Order: sequence, then C-alpha cells, then structure tokens
Amino acid sequence: MLVMKFGGTSVQDAASLKQVASIVKDRADEPDGLVVVLSATAGTTDALLDIAHSAGLGRDVASALEALDTRHTTILTELAPFASHNGLRAILDECKVYAHALKVLGECTPQSLDHMAAFGEQLSTSILHSALEAESVRTTYFDVRQIMRTDDLFGSANVEMDATRHLSTQHLVPCCSTGSVIVTQGFIGADQYDRTTTLGRGGSDYTCAILGAVLGAREICIWTDVSGVYSADPRIVPEAQPITELSFGEVREMALYGAKVLHPDTIAPAIDASIPVHVLNTFRPDEPGTRIVAHSTTTSDIHAVSIVRSCTFIRCNSSTAAHLRSLAELSTTIALETGTIESSMFVFFTPTEDSFLALEVALADSSIPIQRVALIAVTGPAVLQPHVTSAIVSTMTPFVVHCLATGATAHTIFLAVNVQHGDDAVRAIHAIIPRHQ
Ligand code: ASP
Ligand code: MG
Repeated sequence: MLVMKFGGTSVQDAASLKQVASIVKDRADEPDGLVVVLSATAGTTDALLDIAHSAGLGRDVASALEALDTRHTTILTELAPFASHNGLRAILDECKVYAHALKVLGECTPQSLDHMAAFGEQLSTSILHSALEAESVRTTYFDVRQIMRTDDLFGSANVEMDATRHLSTQHLVPCCSTGSVIVTQGFIGADQYDRTTTLGRGGSDYTCAILGAVLGAREICIWTDVSGVYSADPRIVPEAQPITELSFGEVREMALYGAKVLHPDTIAPAIDASIPVHVLNTFRPDEPGTRIVAHSTTTSDIHAVSIVRSCTFIRCNSSTAAHLRSLAELSTTIALETGTIESSMFVFFTPTEDSFLALEVALADSSIPIQRVALIAVTGPAVLQPHVTSAIVSTMTPFVVHCLATGATAHTIFLAVNVQHGDDAVRAIHAIIPRHQ
C-alpha cells in the first residue's frame, strides 16, 4: 500500500499532469492499493478564495469563474483529448452556482470559504481521474470528505483521527482492495454534518500522512518540484545536494531554523505510525529524493546547514534574563538561550523592525550591547562527536562567532555570527560536509 501526494505545481498544467499520470501508472500494481492525493492546480485555491470574497461583497465574479473553467477544461483536453468531461463539468457548474449563491446572499463566512476552496482539489482530482480512465487505467474518484472527519473550525479544522480511521475502514479500504487506483483530494474534509472543511493552507501533505497512517501504508510519497530536502539553501550554496535519509527530529529542527523544508507537523501522523516519508521530484522521478524516518540509520556526520538571518544576540545577567523571558512579546521570539548560574545569552528571532524594537525597549535602561546576528544550525547524526564539532568550529576562523551552543539536542550545533558573515559561514560549513559523508 502506497499513498502519494502531488502538490500544486505538479498538477499546474497538462505537461505536469502527464508526468503525474506516468508516475501513477508505473506504480498502479502496488500490492494492497495505490492512493493518489492531489492539491489544487497552482494558484487555484487563492483564486477561489478571491472569488468567494468578491461574490460575498456582491461583485461580479463571472470572468474569474470563466478563467477557472477555461484553465481546467483546457488542461483536461490537452492531457487526454478523448477523456470525458462530465465529471469536471459537474464540479465547475456546481462551483458557479455556489459563487452565485454567495453573491445573492451578499455574505461570505469561513464555512463558505472552505466550501469554495474545496472546489480546487475536486477539479484537479477529477482531471487526473478522467485522464487515467481515458488511458484504461482502473481508477476510482474518491471524495475524501466521506472519510476525512474534522471538527467545524472552518479554515483550519482539526482531524478526528478515530472517526477518520473508522470511516476509512468502511469506505476507503474496500475501494483500495479492488486494485483500482484511488484518486482523492488533499486539504479538505467534512464535519459531522457533512459540511465541507479545510485543514489549513498547504494541508495536502497532512492529508497524505493521515491516509498513510490509517491505511497502514508501507511509505508515503510527497511529490514536489524539488529533488528532496537539500543540504543547504541552493541559493546560498549552489552545490547543495538532496540528503538521502534524515530523521524526523533533524527535519523538525531544520524547519525551525530556516530550512525551506516541508512542515514537520504535516507529516507527523505518518512518522508517529513509523511510516517513512519519501520526498520526490515529479519532474525528475528517477532521482532518489529524501527519505524521512523516525530514527535514521545513516552514518554521515553532518547532513545540512541552515540559516536564519534576522536574529539578535545579547549577553546579560540572570535578572535581566528573567525580565526578558517574562515579556510576552519577547518570550515567543527566543531562538536560543543558554546560561550559567549568573549569566545568560540569548538569540532572538527579530524578522521585523518591530520585533527588534521590542528588544531595544526591554533593554533601554541597561547598557547591554545588542548585536544583529545570523543564527546557523548545523544538523546531522554525529555533530556532537568531538572530531565533527571541532571540524565545524575550525571553519569559523574567518568570522566573528558570538555564540556556539551544542548539546541541547543530539543532532544540531548552533552558531551565531555577524549578520554580514552569515552566508559565507554557511558556505564554509557546507564545504566540509562531503569530507564527512
Ligand atoms: N490547495 C491548498 C493550498 O493551496 C492545499 C495544498 O496545496 O496543500 O493551500
Ligand atoms: Mg496549493
């Protein structure tokens, strides 16, 4: 059993969907079934939400609806010239009726926004389903709202796992066991009254992880437009490479400290169920991608280096430290804190001038120097081994290092450097990664 999710750019046009269809066909014989979860085509969720807001204000949304219609019908025609348009037509018509209803009512509630947004995933899945059917692939269009049970917190509904598990045993498992490829929607669900809900923006990864967990998949695949989780931001380090295997703990820390990786919370249901998460590139399906597992068995020393540029460093006595921690506007921005009995050092996330100002105000009565820094996180299974730590520290010779913290977690070392040295420091550390692989 395999559950695969394709994001918005993977389904954005006919050419991308051709890739998706070919990946799906290659895996259609998966024992116990293949479930394919799709996002809406890129930009469509935003377009639908705009339409809903405008319609609620009584504005004319006919041309926006026509653009949506044309985009999706064109994709299906280009993708599979002989495919039936019946399914797609029905969803497009329903979407238009709904938008018209919002215009007549002159209101747009969180519930209507969810109902409207949900058309995006219905459209993309209908297209893939019709295209596969036209190619004689055995496939089932499955409305995920039958099983993805949530509360009624419209806009970011919480999934009720037990109910979802129960419903999927009733409705989804029997479909999977027929050997037909299941095509279903990410991001959307329904509450106990069958009212459509959404799981929050970008929620399709979460759908995939939940389905993987309730179906007991051997793996979930997140197909995207990059070749996995990279060893550094390729805009800073052009030679950065996808990492073959990472532990969930590493991914979580990388995400917290600047790496543009998938949101760890969204894959947690799969990790909790010990199901590996494989991140792959739709447009380069033969590349190995990155496997995220609960506990990695790799023997590499360092996996990745990430950076948060807009940080602020201070060193202070323990009473000032207690004062800073007690301020609500500052306590949530602490990126790093270490201390001795009498003194502490802090790195704060200060991405906006306001957040920097809050710190200046809090320290106004003191003469404590405030230093703008970049916070660098070096992640890997063996970063705490003395030879690895010393190799990392040696790369810092040309830079001003304000703080070095190790040991708070077993797999990350933190360094705060002068902000103008941030990118060079990342490159210097990255340069030693191959030596230790
Ligand atoms: N289509 C939704 C969004 O744009 C969900 C997703 O892409 O994961 O937020
Ligand atoms: Mg999207």
